[in-house]
Amino acid sequence: MNCSSCGRDAKLNATVFECPSCGQKICRCADCKLNSNAYKCRNCSFEGP
Ligand SMILES: [Zn+2]
Ligand SMILES: [Zn+2]
Repeated sequence: MNCSSCGRDAKLNATVFECPSCGQKICRCADCKLNSNAYKCRNCSFEGP
């Protein structure tokens, strides 16, 4: 699964959560979580912190 913020392969340290808008699984890597990078849902284009 790729990080939805930076697009890199998130591998082991990824956080997976569900889009608050549509429930789509969203993956974010450890770096982006640490930096609180915004994510964007692939399914509904919801953007959040
Ligand atoms: Zn990332
Ligand atoms: Zn969504």
